[in-house]
Amino acid sequence: MSYIEVNKTKCIGCNKCVEVCNYDAIKVVNGKAVIDYNLCTLCGACVKACPVDAIVIAQVEKKIDLSNYKGIWVIIEYFDGELKNTGFQLVSKANELARASKDAVTAVLVGNTEPAEDELKKIFSEYGVRNVKAVYHKDFTRLITEDASEVLSAQIAQDKPKIVLFLGTIFGRTLAPQVATRVQTGLTADCTELEINERNNLLQIRPTYGGKVLATIETPYSCPQMASVRPNVFVEEKMPIMIEEVKIEKVPVKKRSFISVKNLKKVLMIEESDDIFETPVEEAKVVYCIGLGVGSKEGFDAVANFARQNGAVVAATRGVVDEGWADISQQVGQTGVTIRPELYVSFGVSGAIHHIIGIKNSRKIVAINKDFRAPIFKIADYCIVADLFEVIEKMKNYSLALQ
Ligand SMILES: Cc1cc2nc3c(=O)[nH]c(=O)nc-3n(C[C@H](O)[C@H](O)[C@H](O)COP(=O)(O)OP(=O)(O)OC[C@H]3O[C@@H](n4cnc5c(N)ncnc54)[C@H](O)[C@@H]3O)c2cc1C
Repeated sequence: MSYIEVNKTKCIGCNKCVEVCNYDAIKVVNGKAVIDYNLCTLCGACVKACPVDAIVIAQVEKKIDLSNYKGIWVIIEYFDGELKNTGFQLVSKANELARASKDAVTAVLVGNTEPAEDELKKIFSEYGVRNVKAVYHKDFTRLITEDASEVLSAQIAQDKPKIVLFLGTIFGRTLAPQVATRVQTGLTADCTELEINERNNLLQIRPTYGGKVLATIETPYSCPQMASVRPNVFVEEKMPIMIEEVKIEKVPVKKRSFISVKNLKKVLMIEESDDIFETPVEEAKVVYCIGLGVGSKEGFDAVANFARQNGAVVAATRGVVDEGWADISQQVGQTGVTIRPELYVSFGVSGAIHHIIGIKNSRKIVAINKDFRAPIFKIADYCIVADLFEVIEKMKNYSLALQ
């Protein structure tokens, strides 16, 4: 653990540290620098600016008794009365880990909704979850998660779970690092596999170096051990128990209101465009995936428009994302998202192994490619060997004929 200290004997009250502090965390009082530990982020700017080396940041070894930490928590977002369904994939994985580590699984709902107890008991009994905690406050939001992270971190510090798992959604990706910082532990983001080893520690496995290497990360000296996992990496598995066995605990939030947005020094702009919460690729039931075969940005836009008219969510290959035609959040595959839609249709996608990894569990795969040797045909349920633009014209005519 790091801490910062001012050596009062050396300090000359020159104000240099005050000038460089971006967080207003230092004042000179009676000729000596005084640090506000609530505001200080340990960024070290003052240490560098001090002409007499009066400010130091030092490390102290944090000794914690790991045997006090028990249980696996799965954080699930619960906003506006809706549970994030992909959370049950993580719950199912947690059940598997719990069998190996002999721990209990707790689902921790975080959001702005008071839990509907009967409904939640029924849902969680299907997944074998006996303990459900609800951490909620009407002011919690999906995009600005400081408040939720404050409350959740305090609960973690009190209850001491051994493992905490987050879903890699917009909310989870924002919340998890804030919680990790507050409870002073590590976090492995975007894991593709989780295991328990012989020391009963969580192994956090994820691709690194652009997907070329699989790294296995163990956190043996700090707790909780934390990881996030993208939706659709794990499979949902039901494990029914009696409804009466499920206990819902409402975690009281003492503060009556949160004003973290107002407290922020500068809000640049939060633009809630129509598509910010548009169905993400990993949650879509119908995905049209666009590959380099479309030939240009114009070709991409034409197929993307066609997809939207058909109610499909647009995904892309890495080649297309590298060209700048699509956003990285749309990339499917080893270094993108993993999807399991009811229907996946590819337009000019070759089917490289790095791409197939992310789509192979789709329920029905339709591939359109003008080269009959394209590897995607090996896993497709329906293979259309043709020019993709001609196929689209035929599909348009077909849907017109149906109207
Ligand atoms: C470490 C690593 C990680 C990677 N991660 C990912 C990943 O997450 N996701 C991913 O997608 N890729 C990933 N890749 C890249 C991957 O290997 C392929 O290069 C990429 O998927 C190819 O994209 P594509 O199919 O769009 O393009 P191409 O391979 O160029 O295929 C284009 C296809 O379009 C067809 N075509 C051309 N014109 C037409 C037409 N008019 N009508 C019909 N068909 C046509 C062609 O026959 C061809 O098969 C990764 C690579 C590496 C090395």
